[in-house]
Amino acid sequence: MHSGCEVCERLWREYAVAAASHIPLESKLLQAGRNRDFRRIAELNRRMDAALAVRSERRDRIRRHEAAAHEKGAGGGVEYS
Ligand SMILES: [Zn+2]
Repeated sequence: MHSGCEVCERLWREYAVAAASHIPLESKLLQAGRNRDFRRIAELNRRMDAALAVRSERRDRIRRHEAAAHEKGAGGGVEYS
């Protein structure tokens, strides 16, 4: 994380939201497990997978931005987009 870079800050904020989005799903999954509600478990598993896919996609965006804007050799410029 590069302090002072607005793009980094925005990307990390979006990543944090995505990373937190599966937490309520986990407690629902636990509850569905207690109830042996297998249809609900399958549905929640799909939503967990989707949340994890979003999280890894956002992590990739951070990595690409850091490589493009902050790695040595990129001119040290800040990417505005
Ligand atoms: Zn940045």
